[in-house]
Amino acid sequence: MNAFLPFSKPTIDEATIAEVGNVLRSGWITSGPKVLQFEKLLSEYFGGRPVRTFNSGTCTMEIALRIAGIGAGDEVITTPISWPATANVILQVGATPVFADIDPLTRNIDLDKLEAAITPRTKAIIPVYLAGKPLDMDKFYAIATKHKLRVIEDAAQAIGSTWKGKRIGAFGDFVSFSFQANKNITTSEGGCLVMNNDDEVRLAEKYRLQGVTRSGWDGIEVDVLGGKFNMTDIAATIGLGQFAQIEHITAHRRQLAQHYFASFGADFETQTGAQLPPPEFAETNWHLFQLVLPERISRAEFMAKMKDRNIGVGYHYAPIHLFKLYRALGFKEGMFPIAEHVGKQIVSLPMFYAMNEADVERTVKAVREVLA
Ligand SMILES: *Cc1c(COP(=O)(O)O)cnc(C)c1O
Repeated sequence: MNAFLPFSKPTIDEATIAEVGNVLRSGWITSGPKVLQFEKLLSEYFGGRPVRTFNSGTCTMEIALRIAGIGAGDEVITTPISWPATANVILQVGATPVFADIDPLTRNIDLDKLEAAITPRTKAIIPVYLAGKPLDMDKFYAIATKHKLRVIEDAAQAIGSTWKGKRIGAFGDFVSFSFQANKNITTSEGGCLVMNNDDEVRLAEKYRLQGVTRSGWDGIEVDVLGGKFNMTDIAATIGLGQFAQIEHITAHRRQLAQHYFASFGADFETQTGAQLPPPEFAETNWHLFQLVLPERISRAEFMAKMKDRNIGVGYHYAPIHLFKLYRALGFKEGMFPIAEHVGKQIVSLPMFYAMNEADVERTVKAVREVLA
């Protein structure tokens, strides 16, 4: 039988591994010159907007909420179909999470339902670009602007994606990216936040490290409550090596996605009842290739049968509002029916840089067998 094909796997090249060795030998292994270099390159990539790095793509969003002054009594609207981080950060700052159901085709937040969820207490929106697919960004920012809301884009999966040719991150309000191990480019763990101005950068730097500011040569001062969120030079070195590959990585993923569509064929959806992702190749970075399974097969059965064929399948994501923590806040079944259906039946097929077209074909054959 073929070797196990995981649903995701990072590729770190030998030059990067060697450079990590150099950093480890250098005597400076925490935040230092590599972090500054990585932040500079990221800022150039995002059209010159200010960027700071952190040790996750979760704290980036928490810090953005804090910079925006969002806390107790404020409502923040997001999607139920995301990693728990997206809603957890709203609770972390003491604000109230509000969900709006998703669009069944894009699997991202439905913009009409988003607008309907806005109340006088709404202060911010956290949209998520599931699988790397942006929203209709013109329509989205028109809503945010009309209602004077701050935006923290959860672009954790969307590095390399564009909207009408403009990079996600190069425009908009706060934009948060993750460099966790499975993301299109990784630092093992890490993230970055794109901001609007120097005042926000100064606050981000404080929140990143215990609220500390330097005053003079030998003094420090603490005037806000910060945490410990800095990226290390070890992580930044991995990030620099990955970042150099980003155009290849994105192009290769787009090719793999196209090959998935070609291999499934035009009749796949009508024959099996499964749903493919929206077939858009030029702008999405294809972080994930996700199917929504027909109701006649459970996800657990599908995943087990794919595993029998030595193929790993991921699950992104369970509806957040149905977790115990959120049920305790009053959320329950039936509130967001599309998210509940998609959340029950969605699976992520193998999609990573080191994969080839034969891996895609093997996966498609297995999916067709399992759904036959
Ligand atoms: C990965 C991810 C996060 C969290 O990023 P971490 O770096 O793991 O903290 C948040 N939201 C989405 C949509 C993600 O995919």
